[in-house]
Amino acid sequence: MKRALVVVDMIEDFVHEGGALYCGPSMARIVPVIQEEIARARAAAEPIVYLTDNHLPGDAEFQMFPPHALAGTKGAEIVPELAPLKGDVVIPKRRYSGFFGTDLDITLRERGVETLRLVGDCTNICVLYTAADARNLGYAVEVVEKGVTSFDEEAHRNALRELERTLGAKILR
Ligand code: ZN
Repeated sequence: MKRALVVVDMIEDFVHEGGALYCGPSMARIVPVIQEEIARARAAAEPIVYLTDNHLPGDAEFQMFPPHALAGTKGAEIVPELAPLKGDVVIPKRRYSGFFGTDLDITLRERGVETLRLVGDCTNICVLYTAADARNLGYAVEVVEKGVTSFDEEAHRNALRELERTLGAKILR
């Protein structure tokens, strides 16, 4: 089964202290895990897809969360320690799921991808809803436990359980 690595929302506003919606100190722990996953995927010639939150001013999501990841700002950029290389795919998104209103699905299908390995943040928001849509579309899903996190530790743990028990994702521990 051909696999792609999907790096979710590792952008300035979430990853670095001082970002508009800093996810917290656990971000520093997942960065090296994701660096290893990226290196592994490159060595295995697996496609690497970056999903990036990318909002317009007044986006509906700002009714629930403070404004973040505004298109064209530094906050919306992938952090330099995980910078994509030529040949990687970067897909901006305006909703939690990387599949909603984007060309993620056809991008994966064109590459023959059947399995997604997810890393990034937040476990209970964009990782979870991207995984749910992936399962609806028939992809197998793997989640690297030490490569995902949330500002809410309890929600992180609940999401891992949902991913495993309800969505049938394989949690790599
Ligand atoms: Zn957002």
